[in-house]
Amino acid sequence: MITMPGSPDEMKLVSNAMSNATRRKIMSLLKDGSKSKEEIQKITGPAMLDYHLQLLQQAGLVDAKDKLFELTDFGNHFLESKTHTSTGPRKDLSKSKPIDIVEVRQFLPCIADKSKYRIIARLKPPLEGALELLEPLFPRARYSEKLGVLIIQKKNQIITVYSTGNVTMTMVSSIEEAKKILEDLKKDINDAIETGIKSTFGEKIQVDHNEVYKYLPGTNCRICGEQSCYSFAIRLTGNETTLDKCRPLFEQKYAINLEHLQTLMEYL
Ligand code: SF4
Repeated sequence: MITMPGSPDEMKLVSNAMSNATRRKIMSLLKDGSKSKEEIQKITGPAMLDYHLQLLQQAGLVDAKDKLFELTDFGNHFLESKTHTSTGPRKDLSKSKPIDIVEVRQFLPCIADKSKYRIIARLKPPLEGALELLEPLFPRARYSEKLGVLIIQKKNQIITVYSTGNVTMTMVSSIEEAKKILEDLKKDINDAIETGIKSTFGEKIQVDHNEVYKYLPGTNCRICGEQSCYSFAIRLTGNETTLDKCRPLFEQKYAINLEHLQTLMEYL
C-alpha cells in the first residue's frame, strides 16, 4: 500500500528533505535496493549523514530495518512520480540527443604540474538540465547545483562538464589522452541516453590539503590570517576557513587556480 503524506506540514517535510543534493543522492542510491549506513557513507561521506537520514525518515521517504535503510512505498512512489511527471525536455535524459565531440584544444599548462595540460573541449548538443541526471553514471562524480556543472574525478584528473556543452580537464598529458577521455565520456553518456542510467556504486571523492595547497598562490603573504599557504590549505580542508579569505586568489593571474579550487571545495 502506498502511504502518502497529506497535510501541508507533511508535504513541507518532503519538500525540505528533497531540497538537498546529498539527500537526493541517498534516495537515488536506495532506489537500487536497501543499503547499510556504511554503504551509503561510502558515497555521501560521513558528514551529517545521521541528520540526512533522519530527515528522510521524518518525511516518510526512507525506513530503517535491521540496520538497513530502504525506500518506503511512498519514497518509491515519489521517485517514480518525479520521473514520470518530468515533462520538460531539460530534465529528461531520454529526450536528449546523442552528443558528439566538436572541439578539443590544449590550453595552459596545469598549475599543479607544468608538464600536464588543461584541456578545453566542447560537446554538442548541450546537455542542459539533463546533466544533473548523469551523476549516478560515474563512480566518482558530483553534480554541483551551485555551479551547474557535473564534476567527474578520474585518478588525479578532474573533468568538469558544463550544461552549455563546454568541458574542461586538468592534468592531461596530451591531446591524444584528452581525446580518449572524451570518447569514453561520450560513449557513457550516449549509452545512458539510449538505454537509461544504471547507477554505479559511487566512491566518495577525497580531497586532501596537499591537493588544495598546490593551487594556492604560494606566496605566504598571510593576508588570509594564516602563517602560510600550507596552514591555510590545512584549515580550508578542515572547513575551518573559507576560500574568499585568500584575497590574492581573486587576482586575474590566479583565475584558473581559483576555478580549480572552487571545484575542489565542492567535495569537502
Ligand atoms: S592569503 Fe593566500 S597567498 Fe597569502 S598566505 Fe594566505 S593562502 Fe597564501
